[in-house]
Amino acid sequence: MTQSDDIDDFARDKLAGLEAAHLRRRLFPTKRLPQGGAERDGRRLLSFCDNDYLGLSTDARVIEAARDAAGLYGAGAGASRLVTGECPLNRELETKLAALKGLEAARLFGSGYMANVGVIPVLAGPGDLIVMDALSHACLHAGAKLSGADVATFAHNDVADAARLLKAHPERRRALVITETIFSMDGDRAPLAALNALCNEEGAWLMTDDAHGFGVARLDNPAPVQMGTLSKAAGAYGGYVCGPAAFTELLVSRARSFVYTTGLAPAVLGAALRAVEIIGDEPALGAAARAHARRFAEMLDLPAPAAAIVPLVIGAADRALAISERLADEGFLVSAIRPPTVPAGTARLRFTFTADHRAEDVEALARAVRNALAIEMEMS
Ligand SMILES: *Cc1c(COP(=O)(O)O)cnc(C)c1O
Repeated sequence: MTQSDDIDDFARDKLAGLEAAHLRRRLFPTKRLPQGGAERDGRRLLSFCDNDYLGLSTDARVIEAARDAAGLYGAGAGASRLVTGECPLNRELETKLAALKGLEAARLFGSGYMANVGVIPVLAGPGDLIVMDALSHACLHAGAKLSGADVATFAHNDVADAARLLKAHPERRRALVITETIFSMDGDRAPLAALNALCNEEGAWLMTDDAHGFGVARLDNPAPVQMGTLSKAAGAYGGYVCGPAAFTELLVSRARSFVYTTGLAPAVLGAALRAVEIIGDEPALGAAARAHARRFAEMLDLPAPAAAIVPLVIGAADRALAISERLADEGFLVSAIRPPTVPAGTARLRFTFTADHRAEDVEALARAVRNALAIEMEMS
């Protein structure tokens, strides 16, 4: 077989297809500022689409900790933690994370994505079964696929469906059930107690992804394996998984995205460490973000959110984009979330709230959304 088209033609053709389907994605240089501020194209906007739920990415204490750590330990890690020896901040952060999560031990990863693609293949492999919520994040699906286990998805938050799938595979060796705690694009929460009871009944393990719960909503979480990210409420970067000490030790030898990659930069470790301390010391921050989300949902008659995410499902991708643009004209930065990030036909606006938003701005946003929706209705 010959490969006739060159890469440029190939890519242009693909881009044109995405453009026609309103699914082409674009990057916009944006300067992020405290209190949800954002500067783009010389315009000052107020962002309601950051996952920086506590405003810690621009917190002076966190920035100073990043600077101090870089001064002490350098700009980069030098190599994998296994090769050069690790920056001591890794251990310190792992100890703090495990304590905050109430689990025995923690292991850091380069990002939440890298944690999931590394951890899942350690827990399950060929001959095993992974049963996961259909709305699980792309990196959970990627980790499941990489594991080589049989993968089945259950209807969102449907414990009976998960039970059906576990019982439908009697030939399986081990089984791993995976869910998010707070769902990233829907803002609702998983039935953790019921899923855990099911796992106990069926002899399966439960693993949760707490990317959007950590620091925002403290949930009763019985899962023995709990991963999360330091790039959202912690305002920095990196991923982690907490669980039994022997399991986190096994990851050092077996998780490929731990072994074959460079350790986190000292500045990132320093920032995350300070942020995790603040999260532990100041639960009022998470409560403030949740209160803004609740108020906004109330004003628009939307279901009460479980944490700091409120989705407004529009349906068609082009309509979601049009409403997002209308909100930008009013000074609000809210991105349209389109397939394949969300299922086809459920393009939406995803509003997120941070502890340092002002109540009057949240209310102004709700009014602007109401107006934008009314205009969209008239036009369609
Ligand atoms: C953002 C996210 C991740 C990935 O975390 P990063 O640190 O950004 O790589 C994993 N899972 C969920 C549910 C997420 O929303």
